[in-house]
Amino acid sequence: MLDLELAQSQLTELGLGHMAELLEAKVSSATEKDLSYLAFLSELLGVEIESKRKRTYEIRLQTAGLPFRKSLSDFDFNFCPSIDKAFISELRSLAFISSATNLVLLGPPGVGKTHISVALGLEAIAGGFSCYFTTLSKIANDLSSSYSQTKMRKYTSPKVLIIDEMGYRPLDKVAANYFFDIISARYETGTVILSSNKGFSKWGDLFSDQVLSTAILDRLLHHCHVINIKGNSYRLKDRIKQGIYTNPQTGDNAKKGEEVGQ
Ligand code: ADP
Ligand code: MG
Repeated sequence: MLDLELAQSQLTELGLGHMAELLEAKVSSATEKDLSYLAFLSELLGVEIESKRKRTYEIRLQTAGLPFRKSLSDFDFNFCPSIDKAFISELRSLAFISSATNLVLLGPPGVGKTHISVALGLEAIAGGFSCYFTTLSKIANDLSSSYSQTKMRKYTSPKVLIIDEMGYRPLDKVAANYFFDIISARYETGTVILSSNKGFSKWGDLFSDQVLSTAILDRLLHHCHVINIKGNSYRLKDRIKQGIYTNPQTGDNAKKGEEVGQ
């Protein structure tokens, strides 16, 4: 009994609380199963490793700041045939993150850009990578209000940086330069998952500087998958079916409702 208490307090002192808590039960079951010393040790260490993994996962999930939790299995690929399901499924291997390859999702509002980014962010976190979700406006406001290296690290240190909603608001020169710094710092070291409703040819206007825009695109696109999404907004699918709304790009309305989705 004294041995047990001593071992428990030693484990606690080492910060191995879960092992301390389960020590008595594990010793009993090891005796019952006649486990070798090594098998017992490995089983006990497994308890601590598992709880550490769970803790790290929870912390990563909290700090990622994802706006919602939706997975790729929640995504209806039949609704949006312009997205290659097999290609998106391949991304689940997370090889693109290991190789610091970027992913750019282009397309009009409501086609699932944020959904896919968030789903891949969740996959990345489950795969043991750090992730941070933000929008381009938030980055611009954050760094322009007061710049610091610590703030900058928020955008450069996570293995995956998701930048959502690029294109709704042009950036001033200062913010555009900060954005360039982020993309440069992450080049070949961390993945950027970026969503935009503007094609690359419009990015010059977005950064109010053609030279800077070219330099950003040069780094961003060197190792990058680009997914060009076409189609109707999922948010408006019922309105289109009802004939209340017509997609200005495709002309889809109630008459073509069958093609819009269920
Ligand atoms: P975007 O970022 O392209 O504007 P979102 O990803 O925000 O679009 O999608 C808008 C809403 O519609 C979200 O709630 C999203 O989960 C949902 N959604 C979009 N496309 C699909 C789809 N193909 N299957 C299921 N839900 C979808
Ligand atoms: Mg979005």
